[in-house]
Amino acid sequence: MSTAAARAVRGGTAGGAARRPVALVTGGSRGIGRAVVTRLAEDGYDVAFCYRSRSDDAEAAAEAARAAGARVHARQVDVAEAAAAREFVTAAARELGPPDAVVTCAGITRDRPLALMADEEWREVIDTNLSGTYHVCRAAVFPLMKRRKGAIVTLSSVAGVHGSAAQANYAASKAGIIGFTRSLAREGGKYGIRANVVAPGLITTDMTADLPAEVTKRHLEAIPLGRAGTPEEVADLVAYLVSDRAAYLTGQVVEINGGMPG
Ligand code: NDP
Repeated sequence: MSTAAARAVRGGTAGGAARRPVALVTGGSRGIGRAVVTRLAEDGYDVAFCYRSRSDDAEAAAEAARAAGARVHARQVDVAEAAAAREFVTAAARELGPPDAVVTCAGITRDRPLALMADEEWREVIDTNLSGTYHVCRAAVFPLMKRRKGAIVTLSSVAGVHGSAAQANYAASKAGIIGFTRSLAREGGKYGIRANVVAPGLITTDMTADLPAEVTKRHLEAIPLGRAGTPEEVADLVAYLVSDRAAYLTGQVVEINGGMPG
């Protein structure tokens, strides 16, 4: 168990009974979100996570977290739907207790040059990535405020920081997440809530497996470290940001990209 989680457990509840800290993770069934679920479970958290449709992957992610000693609440939820996202946060708190950490990983791409982009491709990406982040944080922020402590990490992207050709929808959603999270950091500080953004570069997941080979080759050539990152490397950073080791860190955008220039 990490120092931070152990401290939280030792802190216990008003009645003196120890409780494991609770993390809410969206998009926890695959890729970066799944690595975050596993890592936080290993760090001593109980974990609630949601996914959109792939139940087999969700069950495997839940099993790995349980094997690490966590209680797990896994739920099929489309974060683009406000009521469903709210219900996920409420049900997770009912089963595991109020959240200590919130990590929003659920995200999709619908890549297309702007001149060819369908309105539906724009809407779907904004609704899932940006509004989905809003829906879950909106539902979780009051419980965090009440407890006067909490850490939020949102997943943006280098595309949201620097822009990306054929990804205007995705880059706009990810840039929106940065403005959203920095605002949350400003509002949340006086309630002991920290909010930071992780902006990955090229990470090996299903999302990047579909990229055309020449795009992947171009990315790899631009990365000084000469390789894609792993979900576990991103999860390490997330685990640090939600821990008390990052107690003075809020409102920041941390790029994890192997040195990829903007
Ligand atoms: P994956 O495609 O591997 O996994 C996406 C996860 O999000 C799955 O668990 C999926 O569930 C879930 N999800 C998708 N849509 C919804 C929805 N509407 N409601 C609930 N859950 C949903 O993605 P990555 O792990 O690669 O990406 C994770 C995050 O990191 C994303 O926000 C992405 O934009 C960001 N990122 C990734 C980079 C990369 O190189 N991989 C680079 C920069 C940023 P299901 O399996 O059921 O569909």
